[in-house]
Amino acid sequence: MTEYKVDVTNLQKSYGSNHVLKGIDFKVANNEVVVLIGPSGSGKSTLLRCLNKLEEPTSGSIVIDGQDISLPSTNIDKARENIGMVFQHFNLFNNMTVGENIMLAPVELGKMDRQTAETEARQLLETVGLSDKFDAMPASLSGGQKQRVAIARALAMNPDVMLFDEPTSALDPEMVGDVLEVMKELAKNGMTMVVVTHEMGFAKEVADRVVFMADGYVVEEGKPEAVFDHPQHDRTKAFLDKVI
Ligand code: ADP
Ligand code: MG
Repeated sequence: MTEYKVDVTNLQKSYGSNHVLKGIDFKVANNEVVVLIGPSGSGKSTLLRCLNKLEEPTSGSIVIDGQDISLPSTNIDKARENIGMVFQHFNLFNNMTVGENIMLAPVELGKMDRQTAETEARQLLETVGLSDKFDAMPASLSGGQKQRVAIARALAMNPDVMLFDEPTSALDPEMVGDVLEVMKELAKNGMTMVVVTHEMGFAKEVADRVVFMADGYVVEEGKPEAVFDHPQHDRTKAFLDKVI
């Protein structure tokens, strides 16, 4: 039996009478890169947010790294440490330096002492191409640099899985490439990743699998070539016609 890093079965999520996720089955293998696409409002962010319990599922099971995070006995803080999340709007702490942003979680959660955390943070900044920004304040950075800091911050907890929710959607076009480059590098180094993006070039180049969602369902999934070049469903065709 394959041990999936992410194993979602029949996930349902409603906000009041708004039935947003209507029975999602979603599995991600170790080292796999899954790109999640679909029209606005189809439930992509809700699915990602359920994976680290930023949202409470209405029903269904979510097993991350063998641990059922829907069970009340699961320590969700511990489980979350293994899931890095990067958002569209960076969510950096603007009153702290870049270095402090990256060191905060590992130090506060007792994962490392300050000295180790600083060494790690400097290393991570080098990985994302910002080795000279350790003492900078977020306000002095461009959007693309902020997003690379946010990626470094998520990596500082040494997560098993990284979730990206439209990480380049808020960036000026000339910043997008640097952020995608960092993500490609992560993928190449074997990180398990779920990426919501409209960057179809990235999906074609980096994704092991593309999942197309619409109206709270997984409509279609497969290798990028299959989904992009030979979509099977009208919904997928209509969506791809608009974005490609
Ligand atoms: P996507 O990321 O694919 O654009 P979302 O998951 O953000 O879609 O949203 C799916 C649906 O869920 C939308 O109808 C949206 O209005 C609704 N929704 C998302 N978050 C909330 C929330 N916190 N409260 C109420 N409704 C929400
Ligand atoms: Mg979204």
